[in-house]
Amino acid sequence: MQLSELPFEQRLVSELPGEAEAAPFPHQVHGACYSRVRPTPVAAPKLLAWSEDCAALLGLSEVGDPEQVAEVLAGNRLLPGMAPYAACYGGHQFGNWAGQLGDGRAITLGESVGSDGVRHELQLKGAGLTPYSRSADGRAVLRSSVREFLCSEAMHHLGVPTTRALSLVTTGEPVLRDMFYDGNAAAEPGAVVCRVAPSFLRFGNLELPAARGDQALLERLADFVHQSLFADVPGSGAAAHGVWFGEVCRRTAVMVAHWMRVGFVHGVMNTDNMSLLGLTIDYGPYGWLEGFEPDWTPNTTDLPGRRYCYGNQPGVALWNLARLGQALGALGVTEEDVGAGLETYRSTYESTFADMLASKLGLATIDGESALVDGLFSLLQQVETDMTLFFRRLAQVPMDSDLTPRAFEPLLPAYYSDNPPETELMAWLALYRSRLAAQGVDEARRRTRMDAVNPKYVLRNYLAQQAIDSATAGDTGPLTRLLAVLREPYAEQPAHEELAARRPEWARHKAGCSMLSCSS
Ligand code: AMP
Ligand code: MG
Repeated sequence: MQLSELPFEQRLVSELPGEAEAAPFPHQVHGACYSRVRPTPVAAPKLLAWSEDCAALLGLSEVGDPEQVAEVLAGNRLLPGMAPYAACYGGHQFGNWAGQLGDGRAITLGESVGSDGVRHELQLKGAGLTPYSRSADGRAVLRSSVREFLCSEAMHHLGVPTTRALSLVTTGEPVLRDMFYDGNAAAEPGAVVCRVAPSFLRFGNLELPAARGDQALLERLADFVHQSLFADVPGSGAAAHGVWFGEVCRRTAVMVAHWMRVGFVHGVMNTDNMSLLGLTIDYGPYGWLEGFEPDWTPNTTDLPGRRYCYGNQPGVALWNLARLGQALGALGVTEEDVGAGLETYRSTYESTFADMLASKLGLATIDGESALVDGLFSLLQQVETDMTLFFRRLAQVPMDSDLTPRAFEPLLPAYYSDNPPETELMAWLALYRSRLAAQGVDEARRRTRMDAVNPKYVLRNYLAQQAIDSATAGDTGPLTRLLAVLREPYAEQPAHEELAARRPEWARHKAGCSMLSCSS
């Protein structure tokens, strides 16, 4: 099947109150969960990248005519059954209630049932003005679109719950951005990503009617969330809402545990960027830990408080869930149910992360292994140590024979410093070896288990930037290659060894390679 043949429908539009299509001037939208709005056509759409895996999920076996596909996926042409809309939501940004935000540049085209039997929304990001664009332009630049496209797919293949990306289209139109927020705006190529997920509903969709005291709208939206996203939760009303809130908590815990496992830092964990389905959503100034630094944040806007740094993510997710719980409180969800949900979050996060850490070390369990675990985290922070390389290469240190004096050698590529902490490393390896022996871990099994959870290939910040630079210069080769390699992040791919290397020194302070602004 081709894109033009997909049967589209729009359940959200048919079941929830919305604002009729009108000119997309910025305004407050009351009594409606969305506004009908059409994408603004662009000058010269061109298909730059296409995810075959995401296409297969939608039941698309071939791209079809790339020109026609680009027309649709840039928003120039609607297909039968599409009923485009922009969602109305609010959110807490950096800890403060921000009022109405909404899809300022995202427009959902329609829903289609995928090969997995699940409905998936196709949503364009960067498709033009909506009533929620506020003072911004509704567009997205190529660099941020490449980052969203690649990372969505990379995260999926890493086994992290995420929204997906079908396509990346350039618009042929320039977009003005002040990347460093220093008054020097410059024209950049514009682009549109087609994102795919069963739902893009966020915590903020429910928070907004709750904050406005719009009980009727809140109730309708909560019932819709219950029936469309958590249909297996029995009953109705407040009791049912309390139960699916617990499920949101559980899924969020699993998602964040995965982020911590792979070293992903979202960068903008505002409640408008938290998915009700526990999917990683809204790839903006995200980043990957290179040196293991718990207080690292990729987002320059976040630098003052480091609210969204790597180590804070589990706590921030809990705070965000409490805001969602508060919103549901207005529907009669009891404090006990909200408290139970938050407890589900805590216990799920703790047990999921503990299991993941055990797997990362090839151990059966980390219960009672606090000396080993504490020692590991202090070792990782002693000198600058690449998280991904350390765990991946730890599997290569032989643990079934006495440690040789230079047993740590497989780990040396993980060190950015010329002086790896050899003594501490040897002491920790000796402890590790003794704990493996105490748990009776078989060496071959250890390696297999570790290689299945410690990725070899992640979307290092500088790799994304290289793909962006080439794509901007008209060469999509590096982007295509990166997408292909990131499909199998746990496999050894000898032809692509350099994509698994430590960040080169030139990338340490280069824009886009270490820190990112929200300008996108
Ligand atoms: P973010 O922090 O990227 O999730 O965005 C916060 C809010 O700003 C959301 O409501 C976005 O839709 C909106 N927004 C961000 N960039 C733009 C843009 N270029 N045009 C219109 N709205 C935008
Ligand atoms: Mg957002």
